[in-house]
Amino acid sequence: MRITALENWIIDRTRITQKTQEALLEYQFEKILKTLHYAKEKSKFYQKHFASIDLNQIISFEAFNKLPFTTAEDIKRYMYDFSALSYAQIDRVVTLNTSGTTGDEKRIFFTQEDLEDTIDFFDYGMRCLLEKGDNVLVLLPGPSYGSIGNLLKKALSKTDTTCVVQGVLSDIPKTLETIKENKISCIVGIPMQVLYLSKIAPELFYKHIKKVLLSTDYVPNSLVKALSNEGKCQVFNHYGMTEMGYGGGVECECLDGYHLRENHLYFEIINPKTGELVEDGEYGEVVFTTLNRQAMPLIRYKTGDIARFYTQPCECGSFLRRMQKVIGRIDNLVSIDGCEVHLRDLDEIILDIKEVADFKAEVLEKNVLHVKLILLQNSEIEAVLDKVQERISKHFNNQFKIQLQWQFDDYSSSITNSMIKRKICDFTKGEKR
Ligand SMILES: [Zn+2]
Repeated sequence: MRITALENWIIDRTRITQKTQEALLEYQFEKILKTLHYAKEKSKFYQKHFASIDLNQIISFEAFNKLPFTTAEDIKRYMYDFSALSYAQIDRVVTLNTSGTTGDEKRIFFTQEDLEDTIDFFDYGMRCLLEKGDNVLVLLPGPSYGSIGNLLKKALSKTDTTCVVQGVLSDIPKTLETIKENKISCIVGIPMQVLYLSKIAPELFYKHIKKVLLSTDYVPNSLVKALSNEGKCQVFNHYGMTEMGYGGGVECECLDGYHLRENHLYFEIINPKTGELVEDGEYGEVVFTTLNRQAMPLIRYKTGDIARFYTQPCECGSFLRRMQKVIGRIDNLVSIDGCEVHLRDLDEIILDIKEVADFKAEVLEKNVLHVKLILLQNSEIEAVLDKVQERISKHFNNQFKIQLQWQFDDYSSSITNSMIKRKICDFTKGEKR
């Protein structure tokens, strides 16, 4: 296995002289201190947030770990107060709205240098999986300026790698044609959409695609297993969110957890209930601090993602630590008659059924889980429904009723769009449909 390309990159960019966690931590702490002072001086939000804190007292990680968190709610509420620079100095503003409700937007600001840092990470992150001769298709937002597709293309141009940016999957025949025409060997895309593509056109997909890099959402193990198709395709996971500057970490060839962008970001895992750090090996919420960000520094930002650090070094031989693949979002669950149902549990049970293109799980009435399945054309409907029913009942010990519905895949964009941010919802508690 090749050692992660992030190792030499991080050593080079940080100029640490020893390949040790301690040396990297020392570098990160120095950057954290600079960020704290910069944020308190320049950003209105952090002026107030840290008003009663004497930053000169922060002389250890122990003291840093007591600083208040920053949340997604803070960004929504105090939007422009987060900017550390004047509007004229901002190069790109990304507006995020996952719920679709007005007033629920987050705005994330970047300078040109912030975007250059992301391009640099993408360049070396992609070297973790690519080899000479690989051609890449990006099925992520783009190619407009500053979009993730645009930044990836710029990153790949540094290694003269052919890169076609097509935007999120919507026109399936066009995507299949692009794969053939450009001899695409690697796809970067949204987990459910890439799986869907492999299910619709398995022959063409596995003839050409040898590697995929999945991004923007957590990735269930069943999805990795189905997509890898008994080793025909290597499935790499990327971890990132816009707040991180799109990129956060990427798996090496061992395909067992991400190495992180530790020269730009400092990661912690905390107990979401107490706010205390958890021990390595324990699950908790991922929290990060930006180390170089100019336009919008974020300090102890709570991601809402659940993951853990591995306690063992990676088999690739790197000294960099490893975060196990994110297992989902803290709030992506419903409670049915006291029984917790996480979307990830259903994903693990359902997604490896090859006839299922996608599904939606909802609670519309008390004690009943409604599952709406999207089935590939020509599926044996009864057999699939029986299988899904049986697997859910068994997993949850028949604790609630299951109502199954189905429709055939009609290749419409409403089907591919619903694969982008999947959520399990409880509409009996006043959530709007
Ligand atoms: Zn590794």
